[in-house]
Amino acid sequence: MKATDVINDLRRRFPNEPEYLQAVEEVLNTIEDAYNEHPEFERYNLIERLCIPDRIISFRVSWVDDKGKVQNNMGYRIQHNNAIGPYKGGVRFHASVNQSILKFLAFEQTFKNSLTTLAMGGAKGGSDFNPKGKSDMEIMRFCQAFIAELWRNIGPDTDVPAGDIGVGGREVGYMYGMYKKMARENTGTFTGKGMEFGGSLIRPEATGYGNVYFLLNMLATRGIDIKDKRVAISGSGNVATYTADKLIQLGAKVVSMSDSDGTIYVPDGLTREQMDYIFQLKNVYRGRIREFAEEYGCEYFEGERPWQRVKCDIAMPSATQNELDGDDARALLKQGVIAVSEGANMPSTPDAVREFINARILYAPGKAANAGGVSVSGLEMAQNSQKLVWTAEEVDAKLRQIMANIHEQCQKYGKEADGYTNYVRGANVAGFMKVAKAMMAQGIL
Ligand code: NDP
Repeated sequence: MKATDVINDLRRRFPNEPEYLQAVEEVLNTIEDAYNEHPEFERYNLIERLCIPDRIISFRVSWVDDKGKVQNNMGYRIQHNNAIGPYKGGVRFHASVNQSILKFLAFEQTFKNSLTTLAMGGAKGGSDFNPKGKSDMEIMRFCQAFIAELWRNIGPDTDVPAGDIGVGGREVGYMYGMYKKMARENTGTFTGKGMEFGGSLIRPEATGYGNVYFLLNMLATRGIDIKDKRVAISGSGNVATYTADKLIQLGAKVVSMSDSDGTIYVPDGLTREQMDYIFQLKNVYRGRIREFAEEYGCEYFEGERPWQRVKCDIAMPSATQNELDGDDARALLKQGVIAVSEGANMPSTPDAVREFINARILYAPGKAANAGGVSVSGLEMAQNSQKLVWTAEEVDAKLRQIMANIHEQCQKYGKEADGYTNYVRGANVAGFMKVAKAMMAQGIL
């Protein structure tokens, strides 16, 4: 396999899918050598079968808004690969959602899920529905209409959705409720459910906490302590807030958070009380991060991301794809950033990734660093199957162990001649090998 040939072919076939092509290119460039050590992979044209999703389900979602007007959105589910387990991946509700974005996310999810060591294939779904400013009833009606169409294609052993941008506990609850009504069974099927109906303790925290655990593993390789380190975080949603929460517990200084309108800057680090305010602001009042600046009188950079503006030692992008570009990376490196650990999926552009790796800083791609979320989703599935509930301590201990395992796999496959761990290569090769072997064993499907 020549990575450039495969990518050029995909570019010709899917010319309007830049995010998908970006994700595929990044992976193929790093697995090319490992792939070519196995001539049997090429005989089975494994690479094309791994890049192109098993199935794309797309549908219209019609619902009625509070004014009685009929609204129509697009809904999608990309079932990318189920070689190692049922399709598994979140659902995103955001105005920007399209097939390219969901294909990139489903492709990434396949490698990430493989890395977790749990039996989960890769999928992603979503809609271009914009939840901002919608009433609770509108959210419920939309979720029900979305599932009225999707329910036939999901199930506890076929495809298990969860949350992502714009989809948290509230939306999962509405979707799962409708699913249960249509499917007439009660075996889980969604993860991220409420604790009262099959959810797992630590699932809301898992992506953020897991990212911090991964960061601690990376820092340990260089003997660096997290205490008093200044950490810049982007976003203020599920992943960002629980990342900040864990960092504060560990004595680090969270100096920024953001949303799509702007960034707050708190040079001495957020206090516990301020963090609680942000949780309330985002989860209860569904407000904007600007309101934090108004409440506490801190600096606020309207329309800007954190990377060029805040002083930090560590960056943890936790908002969305391509939110940190080459210029941002150069600005971070110039001020001496020692580590970047991605909470979001593909937040750094290829140019930024190159900068981080060339500078030999600790750099963890999302598919390794944010895998804690789907890992605890896997643990939620296990608890649902057993009809048992594990304690928070048990789940947290398992999460820590899984993140340590992922870190170890990245080191095993990502060590370079000069001793530097290239976590991008490590994650991609480790994730790929398991899926490839499973696909080979199951024949051409
Ligand atoms: P949330 O919807 O809870 O929060 C998203 C945050 O990112 C919000 O602060 C939002 O601001 C901001 N954001 C979203 N889109 C943009 C944009 N285009 N430009 C600037 N800011 C933006 O989502 P999550 O925290 O769940 O997800 C964040 C990232 O983490 C995503 O990349 C997701 O794929 C990834 N992820 C999530 C997992 C999970 O368990 N939830 C698991 C693994 C990865 P605003 O309110 O203004 O839109």
